[in-house]
Amino acid sequence: MPGASRPVGGPGLPQARRIVSEIPGPRSRELLARQRTSVPAGVGAVLPVFVAAAGGGVIVDVDGNSFIDFGSGIAVTTVGNSAPAVVERAAEQLRRFTHTCFLVNPYESYLDVCERLNELSPVPGEKRTILVNSGAEAVENAVKIARAATGRPGIVVFDHAFHGRTLLTMSLTAKNKPYKQGFGPFAPEVHRAPMAYPYRWPTGPADCAEEAADALEDLLDRQVGAENVAAVLVEPIQGEGGFVVPAPGFLPRVAEICRARGILLIVDEIQAGIARTGRMFACEYENVRPDLITTAKGLAGGLPLGAVTGRAELMDAVPAGGLGGTFSGNPVACEAALGVFDAIETGGLLERALELGDTMLARLAELADAHPVVGDVRGRGAMVAVELVEPFGDRVPAPDLAARIARRCHTDGLLVLTAGSYGNVLRFLPPLSISDALLDEGLTILAEAVAKEAASAAV
Ligand SMILES: *Cc1c(COP(=O)(O)O)cnc(C)c1O
Repeated sequence: MPGASRPVGGPGLPQARRIVSEIPGPRSRELLARQRTSVPAGVGAVLPVFVAAAGGGVIVDVDGNSFIDFGSGIAVTTVGNSAPAVVERAAEQLRRFTHTCFLVNPYESYLDVCERLNELSPVPGEKRTILVNSGAEAVENAVKIARAATGRPGIVVFDHAFHGRTLLTMSLTAKNKPYKQGFGPFAPEVHRAPMAYPYRWPTGPADCAEEAADALEDLLDRQVGAENVAAVLVEPIQGEGGFVVPAPGFLPRVAEICRARGILLIVDEIQAGIARTGRMFACEYENVRPDLITTAKGLAGGLPLGAVTGRAELMDAVPAGGLGGTFSGNPVACEAALGVFDAIETGGLLERALELGDTMLARLAELADAHPVVGDVRGRGAMVAVELVEPFGDRVPAPDLAARIARRCHTDGLLVLTAGSYGNVLRFLPPLSISDALLDEGLTILAEAVAKEAASAAV
């Protein structure tokens, strides 16, 4: 920000969109030139403006532009950037001690976070939680625990799944480019079943849940052998895969299929969990009670923290020394997570997520009515997306159109993200701290961008 060498973020930032330069601006372009010579090309950026401060519903860049935030750093700053409850606790912890390694000397805040997750999660019975550094690490640990507890090697995942970028988790991820291309050989014992994706199910949405569940049964019983499968791993709403909400009834049937075969159900709540969808965990919408749940993104308000929460007898199947890590459950991140839980409770953020979702779904439904290129509108709470298709044809994905709309939004001061196996989904993940006025303004910018780009697509 010009004139302010140390801008302060959080909800005190002026909550207004303001575009004062081309995007990216001159100062961001300077920094981008430095990035090109210091950071590998494989690290991309959705909107390459360098950030000076963020909070409430805006992100302010180093050129003084203020963007409406529909991304939350990919569903991370759910309670808002530099949320006071997070900042205060983390700052106090920074002054007490920064690290001991929980495996060397434990500290109470780690237990507090685990107890909160045990209390809140829909895993049945007695529970345990382990803290880690990231989403991928949470998924890796859930798989380790599932294998140790069952003595079986196989993991079943779904089409369009995203579970991370480490060797195992990219093997679990569906999409080749950019996540897997050139990075093989992949981890073995990973099997993939069709996802109950209503919009793209070949026979239509009505029988989608049933047919997809039947396909899973066939994979388990006739191809892999259920006795070789430790766990089925599923996102309750697919994230990078395009905010695919599984057809109603699919997740409960998956749970049933697993239970009947002694297969564990791992629900990956890394993107959808922690109040994002208007419930603490998205699988609560269908009363699914997983054996293990992974969380990360929204868990600590922007500090790196992941977790696996699971049934005690499974979690305790790994002997001492088998789980953990140097930085895992860092005390500053733990305090931040406790701040997140407080903010959700005292701020009524579950209800707020539902309100934001109602507003977004209503406005996006109007957009779909007006523009046939908006093929599908879907999501829950503050996790909503539109899938874009060619104006002529039967649901032909339109990734270029999605990219053009996103770029136009960015230039007009609205940060949106794309997603989807076909790259044709625009996803909206506003922080729950966004004001009604900014949400409304953002949706108007989006509608204008869709109208303009759809008109040029129809030519
Ligand atoms: C982002 C994500 C991951 C990976 O998390 P990282 O912290 O990036 O390793 C795993 N699963 C889901 C569903 C995600 O959205």
